[in-house]
Amino acid sequence: MELHVVNPATEERVATVPAAGPEETDAAVVRARRAQRGWAALAPADRARLLRRFAVAVDEHREELAQLEVREAGHPVANARGEAANVRDLLDYAAGGVERLTGRQIPVAGGIDLTYHDPLGVVGVIAPWNFPMPVTAWGSAPALAAGNAVVVKPAEATPLTALRLAELALEAGLPEHLFQVLPGEGPVAGTALVEHPGVDKVVFTGSTAVGKEVMARCAASVKPVTLELGGKSPNIVFSDADLPLAAAAAPASFLDNTGQDCCARSRILVQAHAYEQFMELLEPAVKTFRAGDPTDPATEMGPLISAAHRDRVRDFVPEDAPALIRGTVPEGKGYWYPATVLEGKPGERTAEEEIFGPVAVVIPFEDEDDAVRLANGTAYGLAGSVWTRDVNRALRVSRAVEAGNLSVNSHSAVRYTTPFGGFRQSGLGRELGPDALSAFTETKNVFISTEEHP
Ligand code: NAD
Repeated sequence: MELHVVNPATEERVATVPAAGPEETDAAVVRARRAQRGWAALAPADRARLLRRFAVAVDEHREELAQLEVREAGHPVANARGEAANVRDLLDYAAGGVERLTGRQIPVAGGIDLTYHDPLGVVGVIAPWNFPMPVTAWGSAPALAAGNAVVVKPAEATPLTALRLAELALEAGLPEHLFQVLPGEGPVAGTALVEHPGVDKVVFTGSTAVGKEVMARCAASVKPVTLELGGKSPNIVFSDADLPLAAAAAPASFLDNTGQDCCARSRILVQAHAYEQFMELLEPAVKTFRAGDPTDPATEMGPLISAAHRDRVRDFVPEDAPALIRGTVPEGKGYWYPATVLEGKPGERTAEEEIFGPVAVVIPFEDEDDAVRLANGTAYGLAGSVWTRDVNRALRVSRAVEAGNLSVNSHSAVRYTTPFGGFRQSGLGRELGPDALSAFTETKNVFISTEEHP
């Protein structure tokens, strides 16, 4: 079985890689278990040093990794460069955590009580195609730093950057088989990894539907799981906001990565008496968002990942469906789909389900309560933005929106230094931030008696 990697902007085949089956997955996990024992036994400073060397190797190959991401995922090169830098920074940050993974000494009667943060063993990381390189690193870097081995199952369409990262890890001196990448089909290699008794934790990033399946399989052996799933995040614009700024920032918040972003602010909620003014400002901003050749540094939006995914987006919104605003895309080869802004009607599919394309709905609201009710009106809870000049309202609304990542007067990008994850059906657990390593440890409590025994 093989996987064909296709450049979504040109429809040309970029590479063909072998797809792992259950046997290859089993062998990888067995090798990983062996490598993990040696890794966990290394002095913390040595583990940290090796991870920093890995970060340096990524830094030295940043342009190569970025170009690979352009070819396999169609990301605009400016974005892809940022993604490669994100992997480098995350490795550095995780390396800093190795020697700070301290336990506690807890006051107890009759002795001393200590806690340890032991590595779990082998962590399976299942990555999606929308941000193949950073998501691989979000799960892997802190897991490695905490003393685990990692087996990554990248998405079928985008295995190349993850495979290159594994080569760079080896070149940097990480032990063989500690960080393995195993391309394969989700239902085959993905399921084999999730069900493998030698895998101690699964980090899954992908659709909510598959995430539920993964969680159910993990439940069979009480295997811990982190889930980073879908979203339908609100961008709430109050009439007291800096409207030109809010309108100028809105396009990137749902068009970045062609809307194939779990945090896309794809529901624009606008206070009714600012609606017309906001829409007048939004139209030119959407229409001038530059879609085109991903290799051009000025390009802001590339194609969708595949023909099949474009069909899925078209199923939600045919390209000739009535729209409030529609952008333009190149003609000819490539899985292009134009920026589209629709009139949103609560209860309709386009207003509640994740389209995962460059499509946003705009819904007017009356007051703060109405805005919060609409914002919380889907099954998801990943991200959200609030635009207002009233700091009290900004805080009230940020606290009331049931989502993991809120941003006031901006559409803050995910930062590796701050925690990231979803409420409700957007996920379970948190990645990144100062506590990222703890998600890859078991806490062990040891009590030592200091009583004299006759
Ligand atoms: P997907 O669920 O189809 O696939 C994700 C990964 O799971 C792929 O590697 C796939 O091969 C694998 N997989 C598929 N079936 C499997 C199975 N039965 N067992 C184990 N693994 C299996 O998702 P996708 O289409 O690649 O990615 C898009 C989705 O990911 C969107 O819903 C998006 O919102 C979500 N996403 C979430 C985050 C986040 O951090 N919350 C980040 C990126 C993407």
